[in-house]
Amino acid sequence: MVEPVGGSDYCRAVEVLLGRAEDVLGPRAGRPLAARLEAVLRRAADGAARDAELEAVVDEHATATAFVEAVLADAPRFRAPDLQSEPVRGVTYQGLPGAPGPITADRFRCPTAGCGFEWVRPALGHRVPPCPSHGAALGRV
Ligand SMILES: [Zn+2]
Repeated sequence: MVEPVGGSDYCRAVEVLLGRAEDVLGPRAGRPLAARLEAVLRRAADGAARDAELEAVVDEHATATAFVEAVLADAPRFRAPDLQSEPVRGVTYQGLPGAPGPITADRFRCPTAGCGFEWVRPALGHRVPPCPSHGAALGRV
């Protein structure tokens, strides 16, 4: 699982690619690509220079370029192309595994009978708060 590190949009898209490099490019190309991208990300270089470096690595593979472009086009959610018709998973991870889809908004509700407290995530990366009345963990609806 890749945590957002608060870099640029391009950086975030690359992190999504990193989590799936082997699925996208196959193990032979994906593994070395991921290793090189991780090396660039680890170096805490200046943002714009780092983006350029990441882009140079990504652009060696047309498939990787297409993947990153698709993730960027999904801003501000930055989901992998195959997840873009599904709710966000993995980034902040408060959904119950196996929650039924399709779901169009990130909407959560108190599980306590008769409560009805609902909360909608304003943007990716916000943690789901507990119910203010019951302190219960909200479930995705
Ligand atoms: Zn409640």
